[in-house]
Amino acid sequence: MTEHTTTMEEHPVHCSVAHPDAGGPCFEPFAASVYGLNFCEAHGLQAALGAALEEQLEVDTFLERFRDRGTNSPVEKALRTALMHSGKTVSDQEHWEALLRAYGNAPANVREMVAEMEADEAPGRMSVLDDLLDTLHTLHKLQRVAYEEWQTYLVETLQREREHVAACAAVALEHANRRQAEREAARS
Ligand SMILES: [Zn+2]
Repeated sequence: MTEHTTTMEEHPVHCSVAHPDAGGPCFEPFAASVYGLNFCEAHGLQAALGAALEEQLEVDTFLERFRDRGTNSPVEKALRTALMHSGKTVSDQEHWEALLRAYGNAPANVREMVAEMEADEAPGRMSVLDDLLDTLHTLHKLQRVAYEEWQTYLVETLQREREHVAACAAVALEHANRRQAEREAARS
């Protein structure tokens, strides 16, 4: 896996998160660099875990393509073992917790917007939360590609969009957690 995180000595600045939907400029000190952008601890952890999840899925997609070509399983097994040793496996749960911690302070207009989107949810259709998490995942992928191609401006443009989507996803996640807690309370 590509290593996107560097150390503090190289970036003695503050966090770059600034979207109004994510609560405006974050003045927390620099803690990590992901896709070449500066982040504080909370925003950096979300970015790093989102990036790791995106890369994990990319590996799975690669193996899936490999399987389609009818390659024998010992090769696939060897590849999977090699890839497993190349980085820590991240769970969705870890990423969601980091997402809530980093983007859990969305302003009222974002909360209203998400609530309106959820009011239009229909059975059999993708939930607002899943849709937002999918978009977030795609933005991570686009940022990785742009970063690998040295397209700094594009990485920054995608970052602004990712902050907006992350803030919406955090609100939807909060709602989903609340609904889950209510269901559990009703059962006990
Ligand atoms: Zn920050």
